[in-house]
Amino acid sequence: MSLKFSVGDLTIHRIIEQETTFLPALDMLPGLTPEVLAENRAWMQESKALDPQDTLILCFQSYVIKTPHHTILVDSCIGNDKPRPQRPKWNMKTDDTYLRGLGAAGFAVEDIDFVMCTHLHVDHVGWNTRLENGRWVPTFPKARYVFGKQEFDYWTEQNAKADVAPFVDSVLPVVEAKRHEVVGNDHQIGDHVRILPTPGHTPGHIAVTMGRGKDDAVFSGDLMHSPIQALYPEMSVKFDVDQAAAATTRRSFLERYCDTDTLCCTAHFPSPSVGKIRRKGSGFVCAAL
Ligand SMILES: [Zn+2]
Repeated sequence: MSLKFSVGDLTIHRIIEQETTFLPALDMLPGLTPEVLAENRAWMQESKALDPQDTLILCFQSYVIKTPHHTILVDSCIGNDKPRPQRPKWNMKTDDTYLRGLGAAGFAVEDIDFVMCTHLHVDHVGWNTRLENGRWVPTFPKARYVFGKQEFDYWTEQNAKADVAPFVDSVLPVVEAKRHEVVGNDHQIGDHVRILPTPGHTPGHIAVTMGRGKDDAVFSGDLMHSPIQALYPEMSVKFDVDQAAAATTRRSFLERYCDTDTLCCTAHFPSPSVGKIRRKGSGFVCAAL
């Protein structure tokens, strides 16, 4: 399995926490019909995106990117010791898979200069913090944590109405430790890292683009979850806060990168999770290298 990619002057590592069955395809994708599922079952099973019971298989991972200047972690996965009663596979987890994966890629937690979150959902902020003597502390002690302003404001507002657990245990402790930066969509890190607004899944969802002077790689977060959404860009997931906006964003993103050399690094597609966007019929595929 490919865990490391080189493009331009970037080195990209995948840090996998889980690759596992998630939800039934027909439940997760409200626009998917049994007929369309039947037409796509064979290739989806072959590419390990679907199990024999028609349950979607998702990868949960971070990307760690070395630019000539910085080491940047994009999306911090699920995390340990966090109460997630709705998701048994994430609830009060104690395994060492993630930190072992980080070590195997050659990184210590002190090596991360920036943590960037495409959005602030539970499986993208988990390792922002870890439990130490009963307190949530930043996992990456030297990192600046970069949050998009629109996303940060949205969850601040939601959390004011009723506690949002991942915001409370995985975002606010970073703020209290003063390790965060809330940034606009014009924010850049050095001459290698930019933000591409991709609203829909959440109001402030961003993709992160990297490369000097051009997008050698793009980290697409949750603007799509399963490769069937590349083929049918109008197919949103039930978790998309604005399903129509998510569909529009998905198609324009795929159109933007179609037939370019940009490596599209997805958050949740099954391994290898990374590919180049190519046209197929009226949709697209993320073609493995
Ligand atoms: Zn996600």
